[in-house]
Amino acid sequence: MESTWDLSVLYRGFDDPEIEKDFARLKECCGQMKAVFAGDPLPALENAVDIMEEIYRLSSSLGSFAGLTLAADAACEPAQQLMDRLMVFSVQISLVSSEMTRYIGGLQDLESLIAGSEKLRRVDFMLRRSREEARHLMAPEIEEWMLKMSLSGGEAFSTLRDKLDATVTVDYRGEKLPLSAVRSKAYDPDPQVRKDAYEAEIAAYPKIEIPMAACLNGVKGEALTMAEAMHFDSVLDRSLFNNNMDRETLDAMLGAIRESLPAFRRYLRKKGEILGHKNGLPFYDLFAPIAPKGYTPKTYTIEEAREKLLTEMGKFTPDMAAFMDHAFRNRWIDVYPREGKSGGAFCAGLHHLDQSRVLTNFAGSFSDVSTLAHELGHAWHNRCMAGLPACMTDTPMPLAETASIFNETLLAEAAMAQAGKEEQFSLLEGRLMEITQVIVDIYSRYLFETAVIEQRKERTLSAQELRQLMLDAQEQSYGDGLDPEIRHPYMWACKSHYYSPGYAFYNFPYAFGQLFGQGMYEKYRVQGAAFVPKYNQLLRCCGSMPVKDVARQMDIDVGSVSFWREALAGYEKEIDRFIALADELMPQ
Ligand SMILES: [Zn+2]
Repeated sequence: MESTWDLSVLYRGFDDPEIEKDFARLKECCGQMKAVFAGDPLPALENAVDIMEEIYRLSSSLGSFAGLTLAADAACEPAQQLMDRLMVFSVQISLVSSEMTRYIGGLQDLESLIAGSEKLRRVDFMLRRSREEARHLMAPEIEEWMLKMSLSGGEAFSTLRDKLDATVTVDYRGEKLPLSAVRSKAYDPDPQVRKDAYEAEIAAYPKIEIPMAACLNGVKGEALTMAEAMHFDSVLDRSLFNNNMDRETLDAMLGAIRESLPAFRRYLRKKGEILGHKNGLPFYDLFAPIAPKGYTPKTYTIEEAREKLLTEMGKFTPDMAAFMDHAFRNRWIDVYPREGKSGGAFCAGLHHLDQSRVLTNFAGSFSDVSTLAHELGHAWHNRCMAGLPACMTDTPMPLAETASIFNETLLAEAAMAQAGKEEQFSLLEGRLMEITQVIVDIYSRYLFETAVIEQRKERTLSAQELRQLMLDAQEQSYGDGLDPEIRHPYMWACKSHYYSPGYAFYNFPYAFGQLFGQGMYEKYRVQGAAFVPKYNQLLRCCGSMPVKDVARQMDIDVGSVSFWREALAGYEKEIDRFIALADELMPQ
């Protein structure tokens, strides 16, 4: 099996003349859009929809080719150059898109236009949403300048943040190591390695905390300015609007999360006890691997991983198994880590080709198999949206993880059912470790970001203040699950998510996704095979309805606390099982 992905469906290489042709066509489309709104509304709008689809297709082709190439080979200069050109040109695309939004916002009879045109009916959600968005456009005379200022403002701060993170060196046991290398030691089986690495990491941040704090102040200052310029009452309101979500839903979810925190703290304290700590888990042991004596976790080759996925997903529906098989056979996946390839994993949709590409850094653990299930879940989601206009496939972040978390849960449940007690314990620990991050840590990030944005309204915050706000957030979230003396006052410098100028509150959508995917699984458990077609249909309309309406298709009310409680109750059961197994297999 080929283990690198094939991008030749996009272009043959960076010298492929189609690249320049597509770039020229992209510019041409933007020019055409400016002229389109002069005539009668119906043909004008129909034309604008066509041109916008073409802009999506071209920018996705070019952007995916550059972005995916860079993800697999960071040193590829022609890819970086194309990416930079697209970045500069993106201001023009934003302006054209705003122009269309403004035009739609100004139409008196949008509903009758939609009713009278087959083409417009296919994109009705986008049109109605544009009418809402029009209320949040910046004044046309300042918009272009604001967008350009953002490239040298928030975007530049974000870039600087990444450079600081990538170049700071950490003194670890007499060696100078990059931050990422030291942080990955949090997973080391040797407790002294984890502790030394944590201490070295914390000792390194003072070298960069002043510029890091300036970056965060810059990005959050811009978020406040932008929210105001776009007539939002708050930065959070803008984020909710972008996520097609309302405040009631967010509050219901956060309320249920708060109720569940004691259960997660029980898990953390138990893990602490197993590792010999009396006062809660020290931060440096959050990711410590633990296993019963003599148990070594199973490992997988990529062929075994593929077999496992096809078998387990095939039980859900043979279509999913056939689809995954197709992805493996047709080189959609870049499998192994190598020099210059980015870490982690992701899935990128190539909607116009009805294909996806998946990047992983497969090393053979069960967690790596689970990552493949996750990313191929995204790819399945993309497949479910095949044939829709591109403007109706823009899944908001809270729903974007539905299919991936669902697949992960399917695989985890199947593995648990087949495992002996030792393996069950190990699987549960791996899962709870990750879920604690998505629920408890994400909640601390939400609290921290809320506090920073509130205080940033008045003035900039010092690094010292940011450290204190982070510790306060960790106290509220982790409570006595973590050792109060050994926490992480620099998590704000560590996580890049806080520095994304376009996405404030790049945190709660993760918790939403995790719990919604889990909630979906609970439905499947009850409904069995009847669930499958409804599920695929739900995935299909994730980008063409508000979140609440998408959920309602499965009779889920995301505005009520009880849905979230049910999803979290599944995890509480896992925590109880973990503790019972720990007492049995690893008595203290
Ligand atoms: Zn994902």
